[in-house]
Amino acid sequence: MIPLLVPASSDAPARFVTRLVGAGAAGQRESALIERSSDAALFAGENGLFSITTDQPLIGDVVCIDPARRTAERLIRANSPHNTFLITEQCDQLCVMCSQPPKKRHDDRFEEYRQAIRLAPEGAVIGLSGGEPTLHKTALFGLLAEAKADRPDIFFHILSNGQHFEADDIPDIRASAANSLWGIPLYSHHAGTHDAIVAKPGAYDRLFDSLAHCLSGGMRIELRTVLLQANMCQLPELARLIGNHLGFLSQWSIMQLENIGFAKNRFGALYVDHGLDFAPIANAIDVATLFGIRVSLFNMPRCSVPTAYRSYAANSISDWKRKYAPACETCSDQPSCPGFFAWYPDSHMRVTPL
Ligand code: SF4
Repeated sequence: MIPLLVPASSDAPARFVTRLVGAGAAGQRESALIERSSDAALFAGENGLFSITTDQPLIGDVVCIDPARRTAERLIRANSPHNTFLITEQCDQLCVMCSQPPKKRHDDRFEEYRQAIRLAPEGAVIGLSGGEPTLHKTALFGLLAEAKADRPDIFFHILSNGQHFEADDIPDIRASAANSLWGIPLYSHHAGTHDAIVAKPGAYDRLFDSLAHCLSGGMRIELRTVLLQANMCQLPELARLIGNHLGFLSQWSIMQLENIGFAKNRFGALYVDHGLDFAPIANAIDVATLFGIRVSLFNMPRCSVPTAYRSYAANSISDWKRKYAPACETCSDQPSCPGFFAWYPDSHMRVTPL
């Protein structure tokens, strides 16, 4: 795994955000490299001298230095397309497979994220996730509006449960439509199944109310469906619902389960092996594509997907939490393969190099 939080030392009085640059003159909110060894680097900037202990490349990264905790958080890694800000850990749903189980407390980091966005590399794509980011909707739309004004080159991919959009939000949705794509989950065509998976009665109906407002605001939406034993057989019907009623979607992502968070201890009860029975997924893809819906398969090693559907398998797992089996080194498809989550048991990694 690529470390995102690494040891650091600074005498600054409070946390600060800075971009790390090479030796020489540093600009505003930048810190210049003074000295580098194999496992540590010393920088100087507006907040004085600080050191970061890591063997990772750091130049160009935007980091948050926390002197009290003695850490450097790599908010934006310059050479990675997989940078995500955790907006909040609060959530009003309790999905059975949640990879980031919610917490009651909210640590407001909007100001740090604003600063990081200003320092981001040209054309960066930044993920905004939770928890549920729209529980802090006013601040979230404010951040998007400010970013659009300051950094129109930045694009945001925002994960939301789609439970909180109102008619009043349409102007804000419209204002951010050009520089954002929202990932919103729908787990079944059947309201009871969806509500049971997200553990919230009425969530399905509320989601469709939200989607009407999102559509009115011109929001770009990636609909997301995690594969579970509870919904696998319903995929073709969900595809028909999407084709008939949600044709405005930008994409439908069918995602394999991540064995972390709540799913870790429930894996046996939730997981369905697409390698053993791909038929419902194939049927769903066929139906959706007939309706002109763009489909992607997430978190599925390419060799586990039948040849006819392999082109739908996306390189979806973020670089910092991705791993491959030793045999993958000989596979010609590795550059476009998502591999496995870093926390996936090695004993379960069955691969067939292509
Ligand atoms: S062998 Fe490895 S790299 Fe190749 S498709 Fe399978 S999991 Fe991906």
